[in-house]
Amino acid sequence: MKDTNRPLVVGNWKMNPISITDAKKLASSLKISAKKADHAEVVIAPPFLYLSEVSKLSAKSQLAVAAQNVFYEISGAYTGEVSADMLTSVGVEYIIIGHSERRAMGETDDLIAKKLQATLKAKLQPILCVGEIKRDSHGNFFDGIAKQLRVALKDVPKSRAVHIVVAYEPIWAIGTGKTATAEDVEEMRIYIHKVLAEIFGRNAAIKVRIIYGGSVKPDNARKLYIEGGVNGFLVGGASLKTDSFTSIINSTK
Ligand code: PEP
Repeated sequence: MKDTNRPLVVGNWKMNPISITDAKKLASSLKISAKKADHAEVVIAPPFLYLSEVSKLSAKSQLAVAAQNVFYEISGAYTGEVSADMLTSVGVEYIIIGHSERRAMGETDDLIAKKLQATLKAKLQPILCVGEIKRDSHGNFFDGIAKQLRVALKDVPKSRAVHIVVAYEPIWAIGTGKTATAEDVEEMRIYIHKVLAEIFGRNAAIKVRIIYGGSVKPDNARKLYIEGGVNGFLVGGASLKTDSFTSIINSTK
């Protein structure tokens, strides 16, 4: 069982880098960063094709591996898909589910719920992404976040709450260089906890880790971490460079 009190810093490599050689190089240097940062749990999410090699390279190290997506069936005639059991067999521990870039390709809350169930069934840990497309001055976007959480988590027993990570990723902040303010992050973290308490009950809800993603960089990470009160970060662009990702990991000390 993992120590869920440690900060969690996840690097989402998206469709990068363009060769296995580069992927192994980056993973090797991040393995050293993770070893030095034993206050935190460090996870990288390379593209499917690199998972096996990167997992081998990081085996028995402080660096864990996540997949960026999963299919909900176990095996069969599903061309192009990858199941949670397949990911387990190559050493994956976490799965990012419902990233906004996948939602933009057509993933619905119901599909995300099925993927989350499959992930838990395989004893892997889901990182469930939620976030609003844009903000409005009346705060109507909060309802959308609640719906994303309620549908995705509807059939999850409260005993599994401890295995779930929620990544609050406002879509307008992803890859744009615009970041939510620490106050916005704190407000949303409190709101997400409130919705989780309605779903799981208060005691189970506090065990769910809430991380923030959206243009996290070395120069804004510390403030977001301390004042936003999150349990860590989901990092895209800045996770592709050892220096910037290491500095973000260290901001959670
Ligand atoms: C992401 O891909 O989840 C992300 C947060 O990207 P970026 O850090 O580049 O905004």
